Amino acid sequence: MAETQRIAVVGFGMIGSGLAANALMHGCDVSVYDLLACQRGSFDGLRERMRSIFQVFIDNGVCSPDEAEEYIARLHFSDQLADAVRGAALVQECVPERLEDKHAVYRQIQEVCGDSAIIASSTSGLFPSDLAEGALCPGNIIVAHPFNPSYLLPLVELCGGKYTAPGIIDRAKAIYESWGKVCVVCQKEVKGFVANRINWACMDVCKEQIWGGVCSAEDMDKAIMFGPGLRMAMIGQTLATSLGVEGGFSKFNEKYGHPHDPRFDILAAGVDEILQHHTEEQGRDPDSANAYLNRLLIEVLRLKHLM
Ligand code: NAD
Repeated sequence: MAETQRIAVVGFGMIGSGLAANALMHGCDVSVYDLLACQRGSFDGLRERMRSIFQVFIDNGVCSPDEAEEYIARLHFSDQLADAVRGAALVQECVPERLEDKHAVYRQIQEVCGDSAIIASSTSGLFPSDLAEGALCPGNIIVAHPFNPSYLLPLVELCGGKYTAPGIIDRAKAIYESWGKVCVVCQKEVKGFVANRINWACMDVCKEQIWGGVCSAEDMDKAIMFGPGLRMAMIGQTLATSLGVEGGFSKFNEKYGHPHDPRFDILAAGVDEILQHHTEEQGRDPDSANAYLNRLLIEVLRLKHLM
């Protein structure tokens, strides 16, 4: 029988507790160290946090109350960081966004674990090379950035830096995928990694349009929710846009009378790659991908009582 995977979570706030729930539901043992809970001398608040996450799953039929109890029984709180991280395959660091605090935590972890554990930081804004600077085992420190609510949104953005050892990103990816997460690899250290750049660009347009009197905030959100946002959530922006022109991105400039733009060639090749990696259900050519999009849209419109 495969050995149960041991995961440690350091910092059990909004993000740490959500990821711990995912790991527990996929068979891991999870040990937790949280500084403020230790200072308060009680783990009751942390237990309550975990229970409220599982209550969401119970209320929505994702698991039964008995199953939730089984999951929670594999969650262990420790008043010593060293005890929490010993033997862990991966330590998810979810302490507040202060570089010096994260450095201090990594030193304590690596004094116990050496290079046997991957340290994955949930940081939204710090770069992996800065996180690993001066560490005992810098090769093992990466960014694994989730999205709130982290117990529901599957995305984890993985980013390594100049010290990252070969194979670490792949090892981390395999662990998160075993929890049902979906990983993307950010291949450069850029502010906002991949997904927050999309978020920010969208928010910039919202601010500009609402401030400029183009539309109300309510209409702005409707424009996203009932138009491009709905489509993006189903099959992504690149594929959805390419399906809007027969022949995809390679015909875009011709159709709209624009001069040749080599970025469209890269996008066209990207769409080919997306389709190649699709399952049969998702459709491996534009027509069947369109049929898949239509099916998903109808399901969502029914949920929203719009069909
Ligand atoms: P939070 O304030 O909800 O939780 C932080 C927890 O860390 C607290 O429970 C606190 O007691 C504990 N803590 C503080 N110092 C500690 C230390 N030295 N050792 C151990 N525990 C310590 O914060 P959060 O929102 O969960 O954010 C955590 C990390 O996740 C940050 O790096 C943040 O940028 C990132 N993140 C947050 C979000 C979000 O939407 N909140 C989304 C993605 C990533």
